[in-house]
Amino acid sequence: MEGKINLFQMAQKQLDKSFEKLNLDTNIQSILRVPMKEIHISIPVKMDNGNINIFKGFRVQYNNALGPFKGGIRFHPNETIDTIKALSCWMTWKCAVANLPFGGGKGGVICEPRNMSDRELEKLSRGYIDLLSDEIGPEKDIPAPDVYTNSKIMGWMMDEFSKIKGVNSPGVITGKPICIGGSQGREDATARGAIYCVREASKYLNMDLSNTTVAISGYGNAGSHMAILMKEIFGSKIVAVSDSRGGIYNKDGLDPKGVLEYKYKNNSLMDFPDAENITNEELLELKVDILCPSSLEGIITEKNANNIKCKVIAELANGPTNPSADEILFERGVTIIPDILCNSGGVIVSYFEWVQNICGYYWPLKKVYQNLDRQITTAFKNVMSMAIKNNICLRTSAYMVAVKKVVEAMKSRGWV
Ligand code: GLU
Repeated sequence: MEGKINLFQMAQKQLDKSFEKLNLDTNIQSILRVPMKEIHISIPVKMDNGNINIFKGFRVQYNNALGPFKGGIRFHPNETIDTIKALSCWMTWKCAVANLPFGGGKGGVICEPRNMSDRELEKLSRGYIDLLSDEIGPEKDIPAPDVYTNSKIMGWMMDEFSKIKGVNSPGVITGKPICIGGSQGREDATARGAIYCVREASKYLNMDLSNTTVAISGYGNAGSHMAILMKEIFGSKIVAVSDSRGGIYNKDGLDPKGVLEYKYKNNSLMDFPDAENITNEELLELKVDILCPSSLEGIITEKNANNIKCKVIAELANGPTNPSADEILFERGVTIIPDILCNSGGVIVSYFEWVQNICGYYWPLKKVYQNLDRQITTAFKNVMSMAIKNNICLRTSAYMVAVKKVVEAMKSRGWV
């Protein structure tokens, strides 16, 4: 039993499993169990009421053997350094599984963006970059959006960095608005990548996706796009969705676009017409074919793992399932498409954005979709064949694929 596990310890536990299977040298293990650099900053922001608030921020640079650090920035009231360390660790393996020339990093600021004005958010975003401008860069560390940050914030951050350096630097950040160097297809890339993974998984599991039911916990960028794409591309039935305030259920299926409009208008999903209100906990335990945890970490634990009734868990969020739950679900025959594979579509298209910024030559949407499909399908197949060969779950297998790649890069650089 794990109780409330620290996320960084959870990331290390997941890593340890793959180290054991790979029979990895203990010296190399100790390098890979900790971040290379951890930066703490205090960002002063003059609020609309005239007071100055000091916001605590972080950037963790986990490993850059494969290339520049890469990973999002979160704005969240419950942010902690250990969460950011875990997320930077996961980014390292995510980029490696997806075969990207990037290492892993992550950033965060402790704040409540939902209660801040646009002006305050802009000051905070620019302040974050002012304090980190020597630590990031197109060939050093490339941030991106994550929980409660978006393309508008990325635009301000890129502008601030460019002003400090005196040159236009679109490649310093991905997930920007298209008019200043963003990529076509970045907005729904995380969900689209997950769609391709689900499609590949369905071939192994003999599932007919046009005849499947889906429940989605979290209706932000990833979750809402997942609902829309599952229905549009496969004709799956989205029977339940939820956000932090609670969920809604209709056994005959919901209209994902209608639900999104309702959420914008009412700031909540509750009382959506033609649906029953349910709790987040109830949603996770519904009898559906596919469950997509798409919000925050740590929602599937040893407490609810035995009650989960789906066949497949597609992890759009980072770290939704803890290691004890992983074991229970593996034994119960539930297939988990792990976060570092399932949600890698976001960083894959971030990579395409960075390539386009460096070349100054921009791709049509179709090329983004085709390349994303190819890149993530290859990653899925690599992970699946490693899992079959070793009779292990897809998470441990994804870690093994990733760790092998990073270790090879470390060896080639002469680090170990
Ligand atoms: N924040 C996203 C993730 O966790 C995207 C990162 C990126 O695009 O660099 O994968």
